[in-house]
Amino acid sequence: MKAKRLILLGPPGAGKGTQSQRLVDELGIPQVSTGDLLRAGRKAGTDLGNQAKAYMDAGKLVPDSLVLALVEERLGEKDAREGYILDGFPRNEAQAKALADRSIEIERVVNLAVPDEELVRRLSGRRVCRDCGASFHVDFHPTKVEGTCDRCGGETYQRKDDTAEVIQSRLGVYGEQTQPLIAYYGERGVLRTVDGTGEMEAVYRAILEALEL
Ligand code: AMP
Repeated sequence: MKAKRLILLGPPGAGKGTQSQRLVDELGIPQVSTGDLLRAGRKAGTDLGNQAKAYMDAGKLVPDSLVLALVEERLGEKDAREGYILDGFPRNEAQAKALADRSIEIERVVNLAVPDEELVRRLSGRRVCRDCGASFHVDFHPTKVEGTCDRCGGETYQRKDDTAEVIQSRLGVYGEQTQPLIAYYGERGVLRTVDGTGEMEAVYRAILEALEL
């Protein structure tokens, strides 16, 4: 079987994490989320986690050298041999080039398109599980029991970077640094854009179609 190396591209709040988790079940390949890896590093108090903290809390990109080391290590693990879904990486052209320089061939990039005002609504109400990373929303997708993850029973919380000021900073960073990747992968013929505004289920089906599965 040909390795499936996929990227979910899109602004913060587009649904990359939620949709990636569903794809993991469908495709049997892992989700590699640099945001989750960085948060895990912070929780464990690793050097890298400590170095990343200030950037993350300000909504800025963590320096490429740190993120690339993290990705390199994760992609070298056994479960990533048959492929993976990259979520939140690459986030700028230097990171995309680093993948290409390592001869990592990306089969498909799905760009999840969602307008800014919808992103702000989604991010400001988002709650995330501390244990399994599952994502909820206080209005659109609340947990059955407030503060408790439906999936694993862990505690849900509001990410520090999901507050109004930091959301604006993240959207600015996305526009300046990540959005150019739409053209980058478009030129390489692997990009498909999917409308990320509909029902979760409809968006998921559109993603499967874009992946030509
Ligand atoms: P996310 O969970 O993908 O929204 O990421 C949360 C934060 O982690 C971002 O705002 C960045 O500070 C940092 N981060 C995640 N992925 C990357 C990346 N590929 N490059 C640089 N910083 C990242």
